[in-house]
Amino acid sequence: MPGPGSQWIGEEEVKEILDVMSSGHLFRYGSLEDPGFKHKVYSFEKEFAACCGLKYALATSSGTAALLCALKAVGIGEGDEVIVPAYAFIATYSAVIFAGGIPVLAEIDESLCLDPADIERRIGPKTKAIMPVHMLGNPCDLEAITAVADKLGLPVIEDACQANGASYKGRRLGGKGVMGAFSLNIFKTVTAGDGGVVVTDDEDLYRNAFGFHDQGHSPLRGGVEVGRRSVLGLNFRMNELTGAVALAQLRKLDRIIAVLREKKRQFKESITGIEGMKFRTLNDPGGECATLCTVIFDSPERAARVSRKLGTTTVNRSGWHVYSNMEHINRYLRDRGLPHGKGAYPRTDDILSRAINLSVGVVDAGLGAAFGINIDSSKEEIRETAARFREACR
Ligand SMILES: *Cc1c(COP(=O)(O)O)cnc(C)c1O
Repeated sequence: MPGPGSQWIGEEEVKEILDVMSSGHLFRYGSLEDPGFKHKVYSFEKEFAACCGLKYALATSSGTAALLCALKAVGIGEGDEVIVPAYAFIATYSAVIFAGGIPVLAEIDESLCLDPADIERRIGPKTKAIMPVHMLGNPCDLEAITAVADKLGLPVIEDACQANGASYKGRRLGGKGVMGAFSLNIFKTVTAGDGGVVVTDDEDLYRNAFGFHDQGHSPLRGGVEVGRRSVLGLNFRMNELTGAVALAQLRKLDRIIAVLREKKRQFKESITGIEGMKFRTLNDPGGECATLCTVIFDSPERAARVSRKLGTTTVNRSGWHVYSNMEHINRYLRDRGLPHGKGAYPRTDDILSRAINLSVGVVDAGLGAAFGINIDSSKEEIRETAARFREACR
């Protein structure tokens, strides 16, 4: 099972789905007064915004769409540069590109998130935004990153696709920047098969994102709007079936995070104190999703040896999230004379070559997390897995 939410799909999701199917109303819009309209997407948005302590949440068809809507909402267009980390996901880069902008990559630090100290080196006259990624369920150093952004007068968009349920200094992610984006694909903390969410406290940005996600319409489509549509948009709407599953899953999110944190605590406790190995930096140890446990070794050779014994891989060799392993992005960067290919971000290369992702709740070979535990692992299984890990480190 890829993610903890998908592992916990049960009667609650079935009940919400049946509610929609028996109503026959699958489109997200309708009259809230009509008892035949179950408004799952609407309810999901309200509950999601409340979870984040923010005014607005906009449901979308994917996390990629959420990122694109957020980028267009803040006004990213032709030739605008957006600073992104060199360890992310393809969608972080492609959303910037299809918004018309140019992703400018920066180094990560030992939290495996954007290094605040490397941002200013990447700034140029065309820089228009900073988009840090809360990688592997772990909040990035938001305080330092927003401090740099504020100094430069740049908006921060939080790519929180991998960190739904995480918080930073007591507050859910997505609200420290001007906008945040989440994903509901099957590898994330909670899932609806696919889907995404944009959050913000700013009404104008919400209206922009809403319009972009639905052919220029204003929020909740107040009737016929011909002649009054303010922006040009596309269609990234969520439908009621997706909304039904998303709603049931969202109501499980707090429990999922609490269980993962407890299982990670047990797992981590039994693999601490290994010579030449440390855990990645947590920018807010109490706030992470605990979907993964990332260990960093002193040398790449040792990390490679351990990962081989475990039947997994070091993070630099995991295919999907490392800049140098994305042939299409490398081609794009090369054609524009931008740094690309292995060696272009040496600090990122070094950290990722010494790191192994151990699964706690997200079991994903694409993240290099083929070895570890999952949300339903028993105490005994956690002990055994820890023992196998310690053995491989010998
Ligand atoms: C999953 C993910 C996305 C968006 O993914 P979708 O599959 O489109 O929902 C964006 N950024 C990051 C960092 C991700 O991990």
